[in-house]
Amino acid sequence: MLPLLAVLTLNACDKADPPTFAGPATPSASPSDMASPTPSVTPSPTPSPKPVVSPKGPKTLDWYMSQVPHFPDAPEPKRVHVTESSSSVFWFRVPTEQKVAFITIDDGALSRPSMVPEFIRQAGIPVTMFLNSPAATRYTDYFKAIEDAGGVVENHTITHTSLKGKSYDFQKHEICGSADKLEQLFGKRPTLFRPPFGERDKTTLRAAQDCGMHASFYWTQTVDKGIVRYQTAQKVVKPGDVLLMHFRPALMDDLLAALKAIYRSGLTPALLEDYVDFDAR
Ligand SMILES: [Zn+2]
Repeated sequence: MLPLLAVLTLNACDKADPPTFAGPATPSASPSDMASPTPSVTPSPTPSPKPVVSPKGPKTLDWYMSQVPHFPDAPEPKRVHVTESSSSVFWFRVPTEQKVAFITIDDGALSRPSMVPEFIRQAGIPVTMFLNSPAATRYTDYFKAIEDAGGVVENHTITHTSLKGKSYDFQKHEICGSADKLEQLFGKRPTLFRPPFGERDKTTLRAAQDCGMHASFYWTQTVDKGIVRYQTAQKVVKPGDVLLMHFRPALMDDLLAALKAIYRSGLTPALLEDYVDFDAR
């Protein structure tokens, strides 16, 4: 269903875009052009501005690269110290005032757009991947390519079941089992965790800590089909915010939309792992 939707969206882009459209940087620049008399032109549907519109045809890596904002240098990270506890901390956002935000990509089984690793490498996008271990096992080369491009693999359970209300043993198996497998595949044990659907209870955070996941994350914005959805009316990304997207067909658009939202908010994307300090446990 999702790939079909992606194709339909692409076709819609082809048909709806006037050939002279300059691109997404000037979506509101032509009201007077639109008003000028064009009597012989067949009226065509003019849908509301789409978040990402390519001038013509399928969007290439070069086109995506041309749309990436020019960020100021990221600040020197000041790590947030997580004190030792019997439970993993649970954060909606990183408690930092530094002008950075974090891009996270979840799951891994549904879709893995082929341009994504190279986009991340060429644009230098810092990403944290919260992976389900079976997807990581099946598509290891793909996630290793993102890792080679600077991404970091973290833990999102084995079966993507909601953990809330489940027994300690069940939760520990989901979290430790995935961590063990990810460590085997990528040569580094995850230390960060995102519970499926963000759903968790005290047992989740205790099990996460016992498995070596010292910080667990929710999110502050979601990105899907190239659209950033904010949790507040201000529509701004704040320092320390965590943007959530998924390995879905529109991941290229989602990455670009996240970068633009971070840029518009006066922030720079940074790597989540650079902002957390666990005392070398
Ligand atoms: Zn998920």
